Amino acid sequence: MTFDLQSLLLDAAELAAIVLFILGLRFLSSPATARLGNRLAAVGMLIALVAVLYSTHALGWWAILAGIAIGAAIGFFSALKVKMTAMPQMVALFNGAGGGAAGLISSVEFFVSVHPYGWTISVSLVLSAIIGCLSAAGSIVAFLKLQELMTGRPITYKGQQVVNGIVALGIVVLGVMLIATQGVDPAWVFLAMLAAALLLGVFFVLPIGGADMPVVISLLNSFTGVAVAITGFELNSNLLIISGSLVGASGTLLTILMGKAMNRPLTNVLFGAFGSGGGMETSTSSGGQQNVRATSVEDVAVMLAYAQQVVVVPGYGMAVAQAQHSVRELADQLEKRGVAVKYAIHPVAGRMPGHMNVLLAEANVPYNQLYDMDDINPEFPRTDVALVIGANDVTNPAARNVASSPIYGMPILDVDKAQNVVVLKRSMRSGFAGIENPLYELPNCSMLFGDAKASVSALTAAVKAV
Ligand code: NDP
Repeated sequence: MTFDLQSLLLDAAELAAIVLFILGLRFLSSPATARLGNRLAAVGMLIALVAVLYSTHALGWWAILAGIAIGAAIGFFSALKVKMTAMPQMVALFNGAGGGAAGLISSVEFFVSVHPYGWTISVSLVLSAIIGCLSAAGSIVAFLKLQELMTGRPITYKGQQVVNGIVALGIVVLGVMLIATQGVDPAWVFLAMLAAALLLGVFFVLPIGGADMPVVISLLNSFTGVAVAITGFELNSNLLIISGSLVGASGTLLTILMGKAMNRPLTNVLFGAFGSGGGMETSTSSGGQQNVRATSVEDVAVMLAYAQQVVVVPGYGMAVAQAQHSVRELADQLEKRGVAVKYAIHPVAGRMPGHMNVLLAEANVPYNQLYDMDDINPEFPRTDVALVIGANDVTNPAARNVASSPIYGMPILDVDKAQNVVVLKRSMRSGFAGIENPLYELPNCSMLFGDAKASVSALTAAVKAV
């Protein structure tokens, strides 16, 4: 029996990378360990890259190194520069690159491999090309919508589903032809299949409103994972099969969780509903709500300074105002006075999963002060002040008691049950769902109008002066 040190080392490197990816995901599930999880996964990726480079004999090293350098530079600088509010579109672009890579690998395999190449490669090549191209094109449209380079409104027309169905059928027919002949078909069959998959990716995302894009991106992310896992069968790479499956599974779970937290079945997101209003900052004014009480910085400061427990409820507006650091300063000031400060985190507050956790972690808010919705809701009745900072839909009691509301059934933070509720926002404009919030008219609720960062800074100064 010969002892092949090189393949042993390669297997060990693959195993190490896979274990690091799994540990990385595990640690990402808690804010306290998320940074470590990110680093472990990055080390896993580095090991995987080195192992692939080491085992590659066919191509010039310089080409691969140049590719890694260009990709790393783009990733590094765009991650440094991107604003937190623009994170969903960056994730969309990166996800599109993953899907595109799976499509390109299948193309190389089709044009370079000797045909016929067997059933396994035939099936995996066709599937990864289709899913990868669909995900790449869909992600680019999602990016364009979120970046407002095209309209965020749903683009619909009569017979749209029929057209999409015909394109999907065309893809199936071409794919079956390619599989049946194991790639002996002329190149046009393969190219036509790629073009149709790209077209379906575009058609699939066009009718979905810009505001629903984060859910769509999560779904496309799982598509990319599946495409990459299937590519692993083409290249005979356990690393790709396992890491692609991890992405596919976590993307699917995230999509399901987001749907649950928004109380919307996936079909409702994909085939249009309240995201269709264009959502986001384009939301309409809640002109019907006249019966609201505006308050002043001084009054709120007194209320906060003499409270026993304050629960901060952050939302999308805190992200827009970049108020997280000011919020931390206010909390520090209150804690100095012996006030207990807790943060209520709704799973879909903001515009991407974990949005509030990331912002508060950036401001070094202690993790043990962050409470999930189920843990904090029983606390509201014994809370003196619920300080709602740029959150709207996630506090809307209509979700509990107005059966006709588009958000009826969505689990919310029960801020209305606190002794006092103070809402920091700029106007009476609605949030993402584009609906009025009856919370604002309740007798225990008052509004502190203004940009969240400016209001919170003013509150900190006023609390100091109390
Ligand atoms: P909302 O979108 O409901 O409300 C945000 C509020 O912030 C607005 O009413 C706005 O009011 C206010 N605001 C905006 N800018 C500022 C500012 N500079 N200073 C102060 N206030 C500001 O946010 P929520 O976080 O409550 O809810 C998130 C919504 O997004 C949910 O409907 C959820 O389903 C949806 N969603 C979430 C995703 C996720 O993954 N987290 C993904 C997709 C959708 P005004 O303009 O008057 O200031």
